[in-house]
Formats: sequence, structure tokens, C-alpha cells
Amino acid sequence: MLRKAIVATLALSAACAPDSQAPVKVQALVLNSNGAYAPREVELTTISDIVKMEGVVAKMIGGARIRSDSQDPQVQNAQTAEAYAKAIIKGDGRDVTASYITQDGVLWPADFHTWNLVTAYYNFERAYDYFNKVANIPAADLGEPATVYYFPEFTLVDSSPEALKDNALYFSPIQAFMVLPFDTLQKAPLALNAGVMSHEYAHRIFNQKVYGGNPLPYQIAVWGQSPSSPGANLVKALDEGLADYHGFGTTCDSPVGCDTRYFRTSFDDRLSESRDLAKADRCMDTVLLNDLNTLNVSAFDPYKLGSIIASALYQAGQSTGQHKALQRALVAAYSDETSGNPGLAQLSRIAQNDQLIFNRTSVSAVLVNHITDTPLKTAVCNELIDHLQIPAAELVGPGLPCPPEAQGGTTCAPINP
Ligand SMILES: [Zn+2]
Repeated sequence: MLRKAIVATLALSAACAPDSQAPVKVQALVLNSNGAYAPREVELTTISDIVKMEGVVAKMIGGARIRSDSQDPQVQNAQTAEAYAKAIIKGDGRDVTASYITQDGVLWPADFHTWNLVTAYYNFERAYDYFNKVANIPAADLGEPATVYYFPEFTLVDSSPEALKDNALYFSPIQAFMVLPFDTLQKAPLALNAGVMSHEYAHRIFNQKVYGGNPLPYQIAVWGQSPSSPGANLVKALDEGLADYHGFGTTCDSPVGCDTRYFRTSFDDRLSESRDLAKADRCMDTVLLNDLNTLNVSAFDPYKLGSIIASALYQAGQSTGQHKALQRALVAAYSDETSGNPGLAQLSRIAQNDQLIFNRTSVSAVLVNHITDTPLKTAVCNELIDHLQIPAAELVGPGLPCPPEAQGGTTCAPINP
């Protein structure tokens, strides 16, 4: 019922057709220094249709139905990633219709969904800008406008017959974002949360570069077929940790400035605390190390290890004052065909038939090898050796990636690997 009501709202909105030429001045809901989301005049610089919410960065689609069910004959018969995507998109959806009131040359959203859509688009633009300008990915490599399913009915039947709510995600099998309807979420809708939306956008970049744009990457699909899948577990944790760090990076260009706790405006204290990048005492411990090495990817929690990686990177960027250089180096490390300096995509390829090759040490080496500045390199080495509990001798020494001054830190109590 909820879905029908929303579709009706979107369809009935009076479609005035304001000037769509970018840049468009529009009001969006942006976090202010009092911790509130308040109307703020912003410019959408990439929008080509302000009513359909479509532009270089994203294209919003309303009313889609996406249903993943392993018992669905169409899903079972799908032989390719493309066929699988077709099998789970049960309803294509349609253009959204945003509605505005024009005041002094500025568009004011005329209904709640338009506020939500405009702000979501604005947040995708911020994430796009960050990956283009800070992470240095050329516009041509950022790909086609991202498909964003707005308030779709999204069901993962194997987990629950109920459609999912209260989330925003990048769903790689269909290479698209979803902004799901609300249900019980009491705080700021995720579409408004610039850090969260950038976290999701970072997953798209990771998919494009580390997974080569594969909707069903072998690092998950094939490595994950082993009862223990340490490579798949690590790559998922890395994807989450890097997404948290890039989400933080995007907040630095917002009116509020760098925000290590950007989850707090949408999530409860416990989750916000567990994802706060500034929390410096997260360490690999024996239980987590055992989980990483022995669990299957379907049972492994990628967020715990991800947040250790994220805060280790944050500490290194913070102590050297070089977040932007680090963010750029990390993205450069996603994929690199230079001989002798593999990226994560190339390391995965080397490890394709033996996922044990994709491990804490080899991954850290790939990241460190893409940092040029020696103090930053040393700081990253120290944090990773310390927080991931990597024996220093595996990274520091003649012919190894870490400078001799790197010896690890003292935050984490050593564990026996
Ligand atoms: Zn994520």
C-alpha cells in the first residue's frame, strides 16, 4: 500500500517545467553547524532535467520493483550477470516528477519527495565532485549517470518476504543505487545524509575499479564458494572501510566541515560510535582474525574489520595533515596496470585461484606502494601494522614497501597470529 501511495504522490505532483539548464539554483536540505538539516540554496551543476531529476551524475527512477529470490525460475535460469539483473528487476519503474515553486530565481521544492530527491541528487553531485577533484578520477572514467531507484519495492526473499525499508545502498547486481522508503528510522532520511550517500557512491567506484565493473565479482561470487573465504571477507571489509573514509572525505567540503561521525544524524548512538573514524583504539583481535580466516563471506561481518581499516587510515591522514593526498593515493591503488606496482584489481587477479594471496600484508603493500610522500607512507605503515596486527617484518625491510622508520604503533596489544 505504501508503495502505491508514493507512486500516486509522485505522479500527481503538478509538473511545472522550470528552466532546466545547469547550473540550477535550488533549495536543498543541508546539515548546518547546529546539527540540523535546514533549507539552503545550492547549485546543481550537472542537472539536465530538474523535473525528472536527471543529469551527468545520476538519473532518478520512481516506482521500480526489485525482487531477488533464489527459488525464482527466472533467477535460476539466468546464465549471465545481465540475465540475472533482468530476472530480479520485476518492474522498471518510471521517471519521477519533481515539483517546485520559483522564488527570486531559486527553485523551492513544493513537496516532501522533491526535497528528498533534490537533496539526494545534490549529495550525489558532492560525491561525484569528490571522486573527480580530490581522488582525481577523470570525468570520463566516472561512467554513465548512475541509476538511482527512488523508493523502490526491494525484496531479498531469501532473507525476508517483506520489502526492505530505511536504507540507501549500492546494489552491484543491477549496478544501481536504491533509496528505500522509510519505516521506523527516526532520524534524518539517508538521502539527506551527504556522508552516507558518499559512502554508497564509494561502493560504485570500488565496483568499477577493483571489481572491473562486474555486477557479480569473482572476489565475492567465486572466492565466497569456499567454506572459509578469507579473501572475500577481506575485500568486503576493505570496500566498507574505504567507503567510510571517502564518506568522511566528502564531508570536508560541506558547510559543517570534516565530520568523523556523519552516521549520527541518521543512526543510533551505538552504530554511530562503531563507525566514528576518530575512534583510535580499534584493533584486530584473535576472535576477529579467526573469523576473517575461517568464516564464509555470508557469515563474516565486514563492518567490524572495515571500521578498523577506516580509522587506521583516518589516523594516518590526520597525524600528517594529508587526508587528500591519502584519499587520492587510495583510489589510485584500486586498479593499476603498471608493471611491478599492481593495484587491488591486479592483486585480486593474481590471487584469483588462491585467495590466500589476497591478505592483510599484500593489500597493505598495494595501498602503501601508491603513496609517494614518505611521512604519509610511514604513518600509513605504522597504523596498518598496528591496527591490523601485521608482523612489521612483512612490510618493513629492504625491498619491502614500508620505509625503515616505520615500525608499527603501540595502540594495539600484540596478538599471536
Ligand atoms: Zn557500505
